Amino acid sequence: VKKSGKNGYQFYTSGLNAQLKEKIELEGELRKAMKLNELLLHYQPQMLALDQRIIGVEALVRWNHPTKGLLPPNTFIPIAEESGLIYDMGTWILREACRQMRQWHDAGGPRIPVSVNLSTMQFHQSNLVEYIRKILEETGLEPQYLELEITESMMMDAAASTAILTELSTYGVKVNLDDFGTGYSSLSYLKHLPINKLKIDRSFITDLTLSESDRAIVATIISMARHLKMEVIAEGIETKEQLDFLLDNSCQEIQGYYFSRPLPANEVESTYFLPYH
Ligand code: C2E
Ligand code: CA
Ligand code: CA
Ligand code: CA
Repeated sequence: VKKSGKNGYQFYTSGLNAQLKEKIELEGELRKAMKLNELLLHYQPQMLALDQRIIGVEALVRWNHPTKGLLPPNTFIPIAEESGLIYDMGTWILREACRQMRQWHDAGGPRIPVSVNLSTMQFHQSNLVEYIRKILEETGLEPQYLELEITESMMMDAAASTAILTELSTYGVKVNLDDFGTGYSSLSYLKHLPINKLKIDRSFITDLTLSESDRAIVATIISMARHLKMEVIAEGIETKEQLDFLLDNSCQEIQGYYFSRPLPANEVESTYFLPYH
């Protein structure tokens, strides 16, 4: 009994060790990846459904891993957060997104904004506004062309987030509430905060045609945004039926595979910006 118990224990620890080892390895690789320029941004178009005009793009980070190929953010953002690497990575992402959008503007592309996702740690880093101001100055992008995507859970500390959001909006940077409807926060904060846009979470869109309650939730978010004088965008639209429901309910701004997947910068250019030249 003693022996098998010991073996069991050893098996368990070696399993844990293997997991830990892989995490430490990945963290080291991620550190290197940043130095070696293996991170890149894809951009997903945001469309005005009525006339299929592009009204913005969301920057989404990817890791071009030397052996594993193109990795999606959920495989490395959590590690970046745990290890603190997210600060440097977040700075790179912001700077690259702003640099790219300024370049597109300079090349005669449409004057549209770029949305950048902020992680919780980034949002709460001290002097966030100063830091964003510096990146905008360095890259030459005007503040109104940067939209920051944050989630409801980042606003748990109402006083702190009010201060940050007020400062950002005074400076001219817009803040959008991502994954809206999935957090557990009270809605009362919406009255007081300078939020530019609500982004209806994909989880409510997926089963829109099957689920009466999802339809009710989506219609309610759209109408609430209108009453609060906020903009609203729906993400994760994949079908004509989903699009039609949104249009019938006066949600014009759409992001999703139905119009386009996230694309590398050069494909955004050739597909959406070349007609402007
Ligand atoms: P998110 O901010 O909610 O981004 C939307 C995600 O949904 C993206 O996945 C996008 O590719 C995917 N998506 C867009 N349209 C559709 C659709 O029609 N159908 C389906 N099934 N999916 C769609 P991605 O790029 O894998 O990003 C996942 C999450 O990783 C993001 O969710 C965001 O939370 C995080 N993330 C991505 N880039 C960054 C970044 O630069 N910084 C930070 N902190 N987080 C990021
Ligand atoms: Ca987002
Ligand atoms: Ca989202
Ligand atoms: Ca989401």
